[in-house]
Amino acid sequence: MNRKDTTRPVHLIVNPHSGHGGKRHALGELRSVMSDAGLDVVEYITKSAEDATRRAREVAPHARAVMVWGGDGTVNDVVNGMISSPTPILAYPAGTENLLAKELQIPSDPRRIVETLLNSPTRQCDVGVVNGHNFMLIIGVGFDGEVVRRLSAVRTGHISYLSYFWPIWRTFWEHDFPKMRIVADGREIFNDFGMAFVGNISRYAVGLRICRDAVFDDGLLDLVVFSCRRQSALVLHAAWTLLRRHPLKGDVIYKQFKNLQIECDRPVSSQVDGDVGPDTPLDISLAPGKIKLIIPPRRPSPWAVWPWKGNPSQ
Ligand SMILES: [Mg+2]
Repeated sequence: MNRKDTTRPVHLIVNPHSGHGGKRHALGELRSVMSDAGLDVVEYITKSAEDATRRAREVAPHARAVMVWGGDGTVNDVVNGMISSPTPILAYPAGTENLLAKELQIPSDPRRIVETLLNSPTRQCDVGVVNGHNFMLIIGVGFDGEVVRRLSAVRTGHISYLSYFWPIWRTFWEHDFPKMRIVADGREIFNDFGMAFVGNISRYAVGLRICRDAVFDDGLLDLVVFSCRRQSALVLHAAWTLLRRHPLKGDVIYKQFKNLQIECDRPVSSQVDGDVGPDTPLDISLAPGKIKLIIPPRRPSPWAVWPWKGNPSQ
């Protein structure tokens, strides 16, 4: 395994736009902890998303491991350069959300993450594919895509939670819910007004778990469709989602699948892992086990024993 081969360096790919506040300081500490551990580290500061992908592709065959300093977008860029590579990736949670790092319970403390780098096991994880592009986390179609499109139009530099306020507020009042036709594994399962999410992991922004039962290495993607025509229905859906009871609602579809097509009555915006995605129609599939990640042993989750955890196949 590459990671045990100490003749190879650990490549650290750094997004210079990630890590505001205390996390900036953590990068310096991470460098010194890695040096103290006697690791041979080659650091690279990325210039763009494409640059991160290209760098990852170049160094993967020669690396003991690739460590990413950045948010979910940077992790995605690196993943895109390392599909089917035997070299493992470890994501340092240096962005705003860090959904993947949270899902995998990756620590942000530099000492603990270096311990993870050296000692934690690796897992082959699934990668989602939408219209030919890879994704690791979650896609939103409709309302969600519109929010991210509006945010991206006004974005300058670092994004905080506050950056989302006006795009969400305006989208909430102005959004016209599209009519969607959704075909999962060859069968039409929805043909109505609404919004849809497809997840490889359970976490969504601000702690919501829309694709509540999604697991990143089960060979399936999770689909959630909220039937919705009016803003008032959206508020109710949001409340049930906060309580993680939305799969039990009559007007919500929760289904696991391998292939999915979404068409709308007009081109509709999507977001892919928090960035602007392609407009509909979307063709979504799964590439099982295509990426190797370093993942600390799981701590038991209190959610696992929630009494109302439903059956996602229903
Ligand atoms: Mg899955």
